[in-house]
Amino acid sequence: MNDTEAAEEITVLCPICNRTHTYPIDVDRSLIMYFEAPRDTTPKERSFTKLFICLKTGEDFQGTVTLLESVYERILDLTVRSPQDG
Ligand SMILES: [Zn+2]
Repeated sequence: MNDTEAAEEITVLCPICNRTHTYPIDVDRSLIMYFEAPRDTTPKERSFTKLFICLKTGEDFQGTVTLLESVYERILDLTVRSPQDG
């Protein structure tokens, strides 16, 4: 098995310092194989509530992340990583 690391990132508005912070995320996706084309190929929005750490104060807060999920994949989970600066 080969774990590909998608370099994705998200930006959330921090309720503690009222600024936006950007965090790298790991998205756990599972691909779906269709033998026939699915009827509806509109991507769906999937929301996850995660804990973030304010990059300014170090306090944590809950934020909601919305990702688009295509019909060919299922987003199982996502992990928020802390940005490593410097
Ligand atoms: Zn903040």
